[in-house]
Amino acid sequence: MKVAIKTPNKTYDILIEKLPEIEINKKVAVITNPKVSGLHINYLTNKLKAKELIIITLPDGEEYKNWQSIEYVLDRLFDAKFDRNSVLIAFGGGVIGDMTGFAASIFLRGVEFIQIPTTLLAMVDSSVGGKTGINNKYGKNLIGSFYQPEAVYIDTHFLSTLEKREFSAGMAEIIKMAVMFDKEFFENIKNDKLTLEEMIKRAVELKAEVVNQDEKEKGIRSVLNYGHTFGHVIENLTNYKTYLHGEAVAIGMVMANELSKELGFLSEKEAQDIKKLLKRYNLPTDFNINNPEEFYAHFFLDKKTTDNKIKFIIPQNIGQYKIVKDIPKEKVIKVLKKFSQ
Ligand code: NAD
Repeated sequence: MKVAIKTPNKTYDILIEKLPEIEINKKVAVITNPKVSGLHINYLTNKLKAKELIIITLPDGEEYKNWQSIEYVLDRLFDAKFDRNSVLIAFGGGVIGDMTGFAASIFLRGVEFIQIPTTLLAMVDSSVGGKTGINNKYGKNLIGSFYQPEAVYIDTHFLSTLEKREFSAGMAEIIKMAVMFDKEFFENIKNDKLTLEEMIKRAVELKAEVVNQDEKEKGIRSVLNYGHTFGHVIENLTNYKTYLHGEAVAIGMVMANELSKELGFLSEKEAQDIKKLLKRYNLPTDFNINNPEEFYAHFFLDKKTTDNKIKFIIPQNIGQYKIVKDIPKEKVIKVLKKFSQ
């Protein structure tokens, strides 16, 4: 299965199939972490033929998605005398993908890179669309670039070793895409009509359609933030410790749905259907908001809140998104109070 990405400067394929033989007659660096490498590096290197191959291993974890890791990668590339003609391969989840893409975009002003995502979230979300980046003390993903890979290889073989919680976090992003854009897709997930590959393919297709229209998030790409506006506040209030990102997004979707209901769009039945599906994939759907005013104030810390206006992405119906701004504070507080016990 193949999905094409067509941005103004680059067209490439996302392949969803068993990893093929990859032959690259150049110097190649695989960037990975000890966990992924320990589980899967042989599977990759058995398929990979390069003129010269080095493996760069970064420590595992979001806390290492920083400048220090990028410098480490760049140093290893210089040590191994990599040149403009060399290729980087991101082999891991979203953390490795974002860092490898960023390193590729700045090493000698840009070298080619390939994404081989190994988490469900990376397969359906972070490896698609060319956003790269790292975190710093001012926040998450504040430094980075839009930089598209040469290709993305999605092989579900890797998911056999993924922890259940990480799998569910990826499912949250798949369900998000269905609710925003495709009612039939939502119904098919709900009725267990799709294989995992088919779900991944449809989610990737939908994200590709968005990226092809708006690579640099000037417009429609922001629709992908359904669940994220609320989710970011939850992550913030819990110091990024309690929930995986996808889990916070799942709760955020439930909150956005309540807002949609309050504004007269989504029906109670649809909101329940979405909640049930999230629950079926073991995603959290509830969060106790101790202080709605404080929660509200946190919306303004989000880098995506511009001109002091909160932009909410909500479903108008299942399969159809709506962007709403200028919602009176009282209405939002009323929704937040529904989550206060
Ligand atoms: P992650 O990369 O931290 O991976 C989660 C955990 O799973 C890690 O411990 C990792 O080592 C492990 N792992 C990876 N593959 C495995 C496998 N096959 N078997 C067993 N364990 C495996 O997290 P993630 O959820 O993949 O990605 C989150 C990151 O993605 C965040 O930094 C986020 O900012 C970023 N992101 C980027 C975009 C984008 O558009 N660029 C979109 C969404 C998220």
